[in-house]
Amino acid sequence: MPLATRHDVFIRFFPQAPAFRWRQIEREFFAVPKKTWAHLLTLPREMRTQLAVRVPWVSYTQSEVFSSKKKDTYKAVLTLVDGARVETVLMANARDQWTICVSSQVGCAMACTFCATGKMGFTRNLSSDEIVDQYRFWRYYLAQHPDLPKRISNVVFMGMGEPMANYDQVKRAVQTWLEFTDLGRTRITVSTVGFLPRLEKLIDDPDWPHVRLAVSLHSADGTTRKEIVPTSYDDFLARLRTWAQNYLKKYGQGRHHLTFEYVMLSDVNDTDMHAKKLARFVNQIGKVRVNLIPYNFTDGKFAKSRETQIIAFKKILEDAGVTVTVRKTMGDDIAAACGQLITQKS
Ligand code: SAH
Repeated sequence: MPLATRHDVFIRFFPQAPAFRWRQIEREFFAVPKKTWAHLLTLPREMRTQLAVRVPWVSYTQSEVFSSKKKDTYKAVLTLVDGARVETVLMANARDQWTICVSSQVGCAMACTFCATGKMGFTRNLSSDEIVDQYRFWRYYLAQHPDLPKRISNVVFMGMGEPMANYDQVKRAVQTWLEFTDLGRTRITVSTVGFLPRLEKLIDDPDWPHVRLAVSLHSADGTTRKEIVPTSYDDFLARLRTWAQNYLKKYGQGRHHLTFEYVMLSDVNDTDMHAKKLARFVNQIGKVRVNLIPYNFTDGKFAKSRETQIIAFKKILEDAGVTVTVRKTMGDDIAAACGQLITQKS
């Protein structure tokens, strides 16, 4: 269970407060430089003093920041009020702005074999505040570092955890960013292992904010996928295909994007046979982009695909008409790259 949110506490203590009050407060949470309750002079004094006692201004108590040698990637370890620790990453993007990578859980229960977070197991879900505050943390950080570009233009749920296993809190966090920041729907990406019951739910959920989705496919061969993604099962690919067709039928006309992520593991899922199967799978669905992720080392079991094989794999997809990109690896010198996020359990 995630912790109670700031809003839950507000409602408990001020059930009669008009709705605009909370929105007024939430807007202040995003103001830079960082404010505190004492700055909120437009609130009734009684409310301000009560809230100052009961609601921490931010949901982390400590932070530690590591920067890559190239100064293009920063990783923060945030300690939460119960002592749990999560990681969030700030990465320079092609527009000379920042993309932040956020966590949705402490640890992860999905146990993907190539992922460091998968190995630490699951501790708990993050509350929507704890997700939202990873963005606030970096905003405050940038406000204190005038030498760095200011704008966070993108958010990706590619930190620790499986966002679809924490659906309600992730949804609330995304809604909050859409309302109180300049992030638009096409600038937020939720990345999922392919938790189908929730993916099916979001198609019909009137409150789901239709941001971009990325599904961590990693293989269009059923046997290979089951080997590397233990939450996979026999008819996973068939169900995912049907889901993706339905999703695109409903939302594919807009500027929404569906991406398949594909971590490239040498001789495991990167052969020509795998590329052909992937091309066929994508072409059965339609407008899906494939993002090849060079494997970031986590332990001795897997090796990164050879550069020549990544190029060959990409070419097979392109020749079959599939849109494909290769992700740039960043922050691996501070263990801030995809799949390297791990914090000690307290
Ligand atoms: N649970 C979500 C978010 C995970 S992290 C998901 O499964 O999508 C974001 C991406 O990094 C996922 O595609 C994940 O499979 C990938 N990843 C995990 N470990 C990795 C590693 N060691 N090297 C490269 N990518 C990795």
